[in-house]
Amino acid sequence: MLQRSAVHWLLIWSAPGQVTEAVKVAVAAGYRHIDGAYAYENEHEVGEGIWAMIREGVVKREELFVVSKLWCTFHEKPMVKTACQKTLKDLQLDYLDLYLMHFPMGFQPGTKILPLDSEGLIIPHNTNFLDTWEAMEELVDADMVKAIGISNFNHEQIEALLNKPGLKYKPANHQIECHPYLTQEKMISYCRSKGISVTAYSPLGSPDRPWAKPDDPSLLEDCNIKAIAVKHKKTPAQVLLRFHVQRNVAVIPKSVTPQRIQENFQIFDFELSEDEMKTLQGFNRNWRACTMHWGVKHKDYPFNADF
Ligand code: NAP
Repeated sequence: MLQRSAVHWLLIWSAPGQVTEAVKVAVAAGYRHIDGAYAYENEHEVGEGIWAMIREGVVKREELFVVSKLWCTFHEKPMVKTACQKTLKDLQLDYLDLYLMHFPMGFQPGTKILPLDSEGLIIPHNTNFLDTWEAMEELVDADMVKAIGISNFNHEQIEALLNKPGLKYKPANHQIECHPYLTQEKMISYCRSKGISVTAYSPLGSPDRPWAKPDDPSLLEDCNIKAIAVKHKKTPAQVLLRFHVQRNVAVIPKSVTPQRIQENFQIFDFELSEDEMKTLQGFNRNWRACTMHWGVKHKDYPFNADF
């Protein structure tokens, strides 16, 4: 919800203190779901924000839903617990509500978040996400996490996970990019059929992503989305977020701007009509803001499948 997204990978940082402040503003505004990840390299700042709000009596730990993600350089089974321990230490928490495998792809371990070769492609590691999952299951048994899930899997990879011999816990949640240009209808209905809840990331199209090209489509500037917003006296961002609420999909917009953090929470006092929902779904063009282009040659790159 509040983190820098994939942008941190290109070394664009929120100013010191900005993330802590954003967490405080969000919790005070009523947000309870905080989406983070080891790879965002700011979990200590998120922890500061959470604890400031707990100390002020605004919220109790058990009222928050804190999510983090296992990064791809920690897919080797013995590394999974260490990675989760580091996240818990940075957040100053003794459990996570949900821990996601950030990608099905394992990367070469080391200090670099994105170990790239001379062609700018990720250096893979000889891990298998089915084995990594087994180590994540152990985190549940160790009471370090309440639930485990996945992110950026395709349905064949989910199927492989669900059919894994000896599967102890199935994924509780799948976090995927989702918005009217990538409506993910097949993935959402597939996940539902398997009892897996869905969370939508980059719901505004991740407009601050550094790899944006001038001719990329812009959800926030889309005149059709603007027209729906005007009709409801709301902003395009509010329409984009409400779209997920009405599909029963959890949604995690990111902002470090107090006024936008407030704005993004004011989405429970209006309703999009059935026609408007259909119109928004009709804008699908299978366009991804986050293609993870550096992963295209990885054996477990997820985005070549139909869904
Ligand atoms: P996003 O939420 O679609 O867009 C964030 C951008 O929109 C920021 O530049 C923000 O600016 C701006 N913004 C926020 N509210 C706005 C408003 N009301 N009006 C206009 N602009 C607004 O994209 P995202 O950051 O890529 O994704 C959101 C979250 O999803 C991330 O923080 C992360 O937790 C998660 N995520 C997960 C994955 C994954 O692989 N699982 C990948 C990407 C993202 P300011 O901050 O400057 O206000």
